[in-house]
Amino acid sequence: MDNPYTFQRSPAWRKTCSDRMKKINAERLAGPRCGARRKRDGEPCQQLVLYPNGRCKFHGGKTPKGKDWHKIQLPAADAGADALARKERMIVQRQKKRAATRAAKLTAMTPEQRAAYDNQFAKRVMNPGPATRRASIRKQRADAKAFREIVLATEAAFEARNHAQADRGAESQPAASPGDPSPISFSPETLRKLFP
Ligand SMILES: [Zn+2]
Repeated sequence: MDNPYTFQRSPAWRKTCSDRMKKINAERLAGPRCGARRKRDGEPCQQLVLYPNGRCKFHGGKTPKGKDWHKIQLPAADAGADALARKERMIVQRQKKRAATRAAKLTAMTPEQRAAYDNQFAKRVMNPGPATRRASIRKQRADAKAFREIVLATEAAFEARNHAQADRGAESQPAASPGDPSPISFSPETLRKLFP
């Protein structure tokens, strides 16, 4: 009886398959690699499986983009209850592991190290939020700074005018009336800020 797999076992076919696999592997090895700095030795990571941002799954490849990038990604709505339950188990497990690691780290610290550790969050807000909110906070901060500068410049201008009036008064000139609307000069930059 003829063996139906004769061709699949022939040296010619095995060579075809082997050559093809060699080609695929060579292309894969020559392809792009993750360039993130690895912790082990500071060299580039060199992982082969990459995500659209050019990084492997260990170095931010799976980090989502845009709004809510910093939030935990739950499975899609059509992924089913099992997927959601798995994800929840994973989250709880990870939280427990982190809590244990942190507790061990705190126990091992000297009092000075502990004080430094507690102090490290004092000045930093560790809640980055969505990009739009961060941008609006940056804008508010810049506007407030510009406004402060304008107020300071205005005060300086008033001060200079009052000094000038006081000097004129000392030279027995007729004193300006309190409501005298004599002009205040602003620098061109201040004017640009006031009337953009
Ligand atoms: Zn990597």
